[in-house]
Amino acid sequence: MADPVARHAELCEALRKHNHTYYVLDAPTVSDAEYDTLYRELLAIEKEHPELQTPESPSQRVGAPPREGFVKVERAVRMYSLDNAYDEAELREFDRRIKEMIGEGYSYVAEPKIDGASIEVRYEGGKLVQASTRGDGRVGEDVTANVRTIKAIPLRVAETQPLTLRGEIFIRPADLETVNELRASRGEAAFANPRNAAAGSLRLLDPKQTAERPLRVAFYDLVQERYDSHGAMLEALAALGLPTHREHGRCADIDAVLAYIARFDARRETLPYETDGVVIKLDEVRLRDSVGFTSRFPRWAIAYKYAAEQAATKLLSITCDVGRTGQLTPVANLEPVQLAGTTVSRASLHNLDLIAEKDVRVGDTVIIQKAGEIIPQVLSVDVAQRPPSAEPWPAPTVCPACDQPVVRAEGESALRCVNARCRGRLTAGLWYFTRRGGMDIDGLGKSLVEQLVDVGLVEDLADIFALPTQRDALLGLERMGEKSVDRLIVTIDEARAGRPFSRLLTALGIPLVGSVAARLIAEKYGNLRTLLDAPREPMVEELAAIHGIGEKIGKSVADFVGDPDQRAMLEKMLALGVKAEEPRREKVVGGVLEGLSFCVTGSFDRKRNEIHAEIEKHGGEVHKSVKKGTTYLLAGERVGKTKIEAAEKKGARVIDEDGYGRLLAGESLDEPES
Ligand code: NAD
Repeated sequence: MADPVARHAELCEALRKHNHTYYVLDAPTVSDAEYDTLYRELLAIEKEHPELQTPESPSQRVGAPPREGFVKVERAVRMYSLDNAYDEAELREFDRRIKEMIGEGYSYVAEPKIDGASIEVRYEGGKLVQASTRGDGRVGEDVTANVRTIKAIPLRVAETQPLTLRGEIFIRPADLETVNELRASRGEAAFANPRNAAAGSLRLLDPKQTAERPLRVAFYDLVQERYDSHGAMLEALAALGLPTHREHGRCADIDAVLAYIARFDARRETLPYETDGVVIKLDEVRLRDSVGFTSRFPRWAIAYKYAAEQAATKLLSITCDVGRTGQLTPVANLEPVQLAGTTVSRASLHNLDLIAEKDVRVGDTVIIQKAGEIIPQVLSVDVAQRPPSAEPWPAPTVCPACDQPVVRAEGESALRCVNARCRGRLTAGLWYFTRRGGMDIDGLGKSLVEQLVDVGLVEDLADIFALPTQRDALLGLERMGEKSVDRLIVTIDEARAGRPFSRLLTALGIPLVGSVAARLIAEKYGNLRTLLDAPREPMVEELAAIHGIGEKIGKSVADFVGDPDQRAMLEKMLALGVKAEEPRREKVVGGVLEGLSFCVTGSFDRKRNEIHAEIEKHGGEVHKSVKKGTTYLLAGERVGKTKIEAAEKKGARVIDEDGYGRLLAGESLDEPES
């Protein structure tokens, strides 16, 4: 047997590395099952050799320390992880330990274990004041600005006593599919599962990007112990209008818990969120203190984890999908096999490094797994069954769609096709352009887009708008009858005439330009013609001067518009009658804020863009920074002293939201505010 000390050190190092890729980078390189196997081996060694269980061991720690770039939040009451049980025997053992500690007179609550990222949200005086990630339990990351963008989380609650809530931020599997398709078409790596997607989206450094992710939350804990039982607390949170899972079951004993687990297993497929188990908690809050905590988890709760579904099948071939930006994503084509109720014939191989790391070869028997992932992943290779002829997979040197050489950027694990005229890239770009949320051209599904490119009817995005004049050619395509052709023509004409400029800008897929930035740019230029005619030189500065758009986005837009091919394509769109006008908000004459200008800073209960829109709606002007002539600095919460002093120096008067409210109500602010 291997030297336990050496093996222990090896495991610690591997687990630390995996914790970093998983918790800090949100991009694990091994599956959870592989991680759990290593972790359990570590626990087994430490049980045999307790002297190896130092405070630094991964077995004694929760998560990972916060990432650089976030403000750290040190919390008074630690956040813990949960101990796991994988079968009935382990659950009965948990119950035996509880009974040993507290005797009789206790019961449990069982509730779903939603697979997302933990969050702590604090309300004071009924207002949301702070949100933080779990981090290493004691210190988390301040993600308040991001959490404020999640619509499901109320910014105000009808409870003025402090509330420190804990819960799970998650993304619905159906939404993840959309997020991943968008990421793929932007050339970004897909999230491995809803949990990584939720954690990654929560911890973006730019709240505008978080706002575009469909995040949701379910609260399951209140740190202030105001209720006698866990069940009563959950019901009180729901009554306050806070989102909870509303799925908990009160269980008189461990047998009732087992019955809940069996019932919930049948039900969880029907829920709109991903669950990986059931959490069992002692219901009587007063008894919890006598049961206590370990360094990682409460002893009064445990997570029962459902087994991840796996299957073995033969790998027939490896092919690559080409994304809009040219990124190649390897896909395993499999002998069809039943897994978690569906027939699976494709599985994700994520990236080239993963194929090399796992040494996946065509002809191999591979184990695939579905555990939270939308498309199953290749978990491992059964090397014992490898046919002697199986060779390591040679990474492609040319693009599968256009046969042009592919490149691998330094430090990147992805291969890219850099041919701007690649048919694969065009197909992915067309899908992105026409999808819902983009130009919204219903009836242009993936297979029709592929056909249009294959027969040469569409050679760039603009050609979509020439299709209505090609009725006969459309009728010649597969599965295109009179009715569907006519319907398609109507929707293309609607898109041509009716989509705002901001939608077109989003649909073009300009790097870094999401729907929020697109709207700001569209409001600035008004329409596509004006943007194309704007001199390129000051464009970057002009764009960067818009509140909410930085230099990077400005440069990306200027580069796109300056590219001769893209320009020609956009000119063609205009020639084909694409309107792309942003509905202009009328400049209000005689509005209550007319003649006043505002610079808005600090955080508010609503988005700053909304305040900007409100100021303009009432005839006021918005200044990105305080300059000579700015009338007011509207300061929200947490504004630095220096900013205030600098504004006052420039002659701007500093007001808070109340002062602003009075101005809106038509009052004048004669007395300087204290
Ligand atoms: P966990 O996910 O097993 O359970 C604890 C978490 O469950 C809590 O922090 C909370 O966020 C969540 N939760 C959901 N519903 C809950 C409810 N009703 N009540 C209380 N908590 C609830 O533990 P963890 O520490 O977050 O993560 C450990 C797991 O993460 C490992 O078992 C492993 O599978 C995975 N992991 C994988 C890698 C990798 O590289 N693949 C690396 C590290 C960890």
